Amino acid sequence: MVNHKVSLAFLFSLLFPIKAGIAQSTDVENLKAEAVSSIDSLTKLNQEIIDSLFSFAELGFQEFETQRYLTDILEENDFEVELGVAGIPSAWWASWGSGEPVIALGSDVDGIPRASQMPGVAFRQPMIEGAPGHGEGHNSGQAVNIVAALAVKEIMETKGLPGTIVIWPGIAEELLGTKAWYARDGLFEGVDAVLFTHVSNNLTVSWGRARGTGLVSVEYLFDGVAAHGAGDPWKGRSALDAVELMNIAWNYRREHLHPLQRSHYVISNGGDQPNVVPSSASVWYFIREVSADGIRNNFSTLHQIAEGASLMTDTSVSRRIVGAAYPRHFNRPIALAMDENIKNIGLPNWSEDDQQFAKALQTLMGAEEPEGLATDLAGITPDLEQPISGGSDDIGDISWNVPTVTLRYPSNVRGLQGHHWSSAMAMATPIAHKGAITGAKVIATTMLDLISNDTLVEEAQNYFEDIQTADEQYSPFISPDDLPAIDKNEDIMAEFRPMLEELYYDADRFETYLDQLGVDYPQLTPMEIRRN
Ligand SMILES: [Zn+2]
Repeated sequence: MVNHKVSLAFLFSLLFPIKAGIAQSTDVENLKAEAVSSIDSLTKLNQEIIDSLFSFAELGFQEFETQRYLTDILEENDFEVELGVAGIPSAWWASWGSGEPVIALGSDVDGIPRASQMPGVAFRQPMIEGAPGHGEGHNSGQAVNIVAALAVKEIMETKGLPGTIVIWPGIAEELLGTKAWYARDGLFEGVDAVLFTHVSNNLTVSWGRARGTGLVSVEYLFDGVAAHGAGDPWKGRSALDAVELMNIAWNYRREHLHPLQRSHYVISNGGDQPNVVPSSASVWYFIREVSADGIRNNFSTLHQIAEGASLMTDTSVSRRIVGAAYPRHFNRPIALAMDENIKNIGLPNWSEDDQQFAKALQTLMGAEEPEGLATDLAGITPDLEQPISGGSDDIGDISWNVPTVTLRYPSNVRGLQGHHWSSAMAMATPIAHKGAITGAKVIATTMLDLISNDTLVEEAQNYFEDIQTADEQYSPFISPDDLPAIDKNEDIMAEFRPMLEELYYDADRFETYLDQLGVDYPQLTPMEIRRN
């Protein structure tokens, strides 16, 4: 499964050693061409990683099968792996090589609750009713990074180029649960550049302030007094009342918050049964805003409301930070270099089947004139002049510690719904596979820009110090005492893992996961799932 061909090129390099440091740009272009063709020979590994992670369908903080599978591949390829970094059991830090530059490739790996969906079919069909699934496409980014890293590693070995490659996972990104902790615990000290990858429906990069928000994710836990709901309710103090009053107050307060904020909550514990006054209840909030100060202000308002609710109900309250994400700021010099590589590599060559499938999904999701897969590059996005609200990603915290960019690669279909089963439909099909290979080529060529050109590393650092952090200083939303919320999703995965295991992709027996499931891609009419 893993490419072991240490190659004639290596033997050749022993006979004709090339000095470290590639001065000529034509040399760099030759190395890039070599990386691109080496990536074309890694398409099988790419497909196996994507299909395997799709079948594991693990939620945040419970990505243990994903961890085992990916770190095995990395160890087989001579990466040194440390498991459980930053007190997060499903996390890891894998590194290979020595010296500078240190380039750290990251991508998220967790799934979405209740997004279980058959891949390659153009109709709603959960693989397991109620189970998690890859309804965000986080099963594809590690394939991008590992394939790129293996291609570049081979070149570094044969050419004797110095540098260190790190591969790390975004654990529990859907909970914004780990990257601020990684940064706090110093994982990125000594890293020169972070190339982050995220699934998308085009091939793009941005620099400066990114669209979207940062956030604090916080759970408020109220403690009251239990009593018989009918016998002597006057003896009880309802923690659920506190939760409800808190939510009412927040919903009134919304009118007086800046309109670019986004906030939402779920009642994570609403009590046990109606005839027992709930002595314990909790509510879990995401407080999003476009600026760090905006987040801090709204968080402090929320806290005041929680204390008010506690006072009104004669209950006590405590809070727990579950996640944090800084508003993102991406590095200009690296983004510009990456954009040149994007223009050279271009979008994948989609087949007619791919286009037919994409259009069927778009029609399913209500498009009157489905546009299919992107065939034109969207182009680089510069620093936003005005903030635009939306989602968050905890890569923001890393982007304030190290020069960072995010490559968005075309493994999914445009026009689908985010955090939804429709976004899982293409994620174990040729669309996902081709998009990731294209992404890997951009990552590998950008790594070669950094490795072969000290100036780019310097320019990236200068931008980070003299422009990005000149006016705004990073001040994390988490304290040294906040622990990662590693218990989240334990119960859901305990329920579904045994059923998911029966459907894990078996790469020894089946060419692809679609073959294993008996899907005739693109499958436009309902079918039975084959279970092996
Ligand atoms: Zn994501």
